[in-house]
Amino acid sequence: MVAIILSVGDELVLGQTVDTNSAWLSQQLAAVGCDIAAHATVGDDQRAVEHAIAESAGRCDVLIVSGGLGPTEDDLTRQAIAAVMKVDLILSEEWLATMQGFFDKIGRTMPESNKIQAMIPRGSKMIFNTCGTAAGIEATISGGVSGQRTGAGKSTTPNADHSPLTPGPSAGCVLFAVPGVPKEMKAMFARDVLPHIEKLAGGAAIRSRTLHTFGLGESTVAERLGELMKRGRNPSVGTTVSGGVVSLRVNARFESVERSTRELQNTVDACHAALGDVIYGQDEDTLPSVVGRLLIKKGSSVATAESCTGGLLAKYLTDAAGSSAYFTHGWITYADRAKGQLLGVQNVEQNGAVSAETVRQMSQSAMKESGSTYALAISGIAGPTGATPEKPVGTVYIALAAAEGWQSVEARHFLFPGDREMVRDRSAKMAMTMLRYRLLGTPLPF
Ligand code: AMP
Ligand code: MG
Repeated sequence: MVAIILSVGDELVLGQTVDTNSAWLSQQLAAVGCDIAAHATVGDDQRAVEHAIAESAGRCDVLIVSGGLGPTEDDLTRQAIAAVMKVDLILSEEWLATMQGFFDKIGRTMPESNKIQAMIPRGSKMIFNTCGTAAGIEATISGGVSGQRTGAGKSTTPNADHSPLTPGPSAGCVLFAVPGVPKEMKAMFARDVLPHIEKLAGGAAIRSRTLHTFGLGESTVAERLGELMKRGRNPSVGTTVSGGVVSLRVNARFESVERSTRELQNTVDACHAALGDVIYGQDEDTLPSVVGRLLIKKGSSVATAESCTGGLLAKYLTDAAGSSAYFTHGWITYADRAKGQLLGVQNVEQNGAVSAETVRQMSQSAMKESGSTYALAISGIAGPTGATPEKPVGTVYIALAAAEGWQSVEARHFLFPGDREMVRDRSAKMAMTMLRYRLLGTPLPF
């Protein structure tokens, strides 16, 4: 089943409002097995809306139109639908009475302009709005555009003085017009539109999961996944990258929810087998939330001592609500003097502020001072200044001290690519990754 989403509003084409409705609607439609052929956006211009409806209707089975159902003169979706259907607008007594009841309840007179919101194209159905005055519309549109309109001028009334669009040869398309206000749109779509589409879709279902990795580049991840990423495979596996996190999007599309769910799990298991612990979480999981969960599970705590990241690691570790259960102290020892004064780091100048020895001492002191189970320390050259031939921009040392076992401090050298922001971000994420592997009881694989 093919779907198109059409958004209507000047504010959208002008970029003043981000079209979040289309993204949300796409996810909802995909989840019930629809193929989304396109997102289209037009301004508050009746002819543009008519053209977009007629053209889209010829290319899809379901057309969702959001916006333009308000009471003002620039809300022209109902008129455009009527014009494409070549019918007039008729009054929905039911919706007029509902609106009247709404205004009575708040003790106000219903403005005359609201009455247009009770008008629907003849032959269409009114869709209830549980949180606003813009009722929705369900209509069948016969087909797409095969000829050009010859009339001129913008019109705000249906079937005004322009020649109609000529319907194309395609079968009918079911159109659902929903309000633009996201809250109203979502409520109406979930309550009255989606169940209808699910029936039309005949049970086909997409089930999706996103798996997150950190530490390997996208091409290495792809190499390890091999055949799993082959185009045309179902379930499909695709990668996206954001902030150094390579995520795998797994989509299973089968005739039933049961089969999609089962096949999705099989492919997710295959991804885990190919990448192992490099996958740190799924869907809403983040590195801090995963590390936090592991710390809680082990009854452990962590402190930080940061130089080049200036507190970013502490920020990440405290992003999740409830982080006081495992995060105890954070030091930002940016200057050499601070490293000595606050953490008792010795011979900073001799060893170098950016060195394995310095971060080792920083992490050990942080662990002892805080009494935490673990302490992470970071010192590096985030750039763009401060580099030397031996220590280029991106040189970072990270140490993990642990109040456990004999090998209590692990200090690692990294060379991160990118600008200052990237180097700092990757440093903080790698530090959390080092801790995560330690908590898993596995050596860092990179
Ligand atoms: P309308 O139904 O056209 O009167 O839209 C009402 C309000 O909803 C607009 O002023 C926007 O703030 C918001 N809106 C409309 N369309 C969208 C959209 N596609 N995505 C996000 N917000 C929207
Ligand atoms: Mg609008």
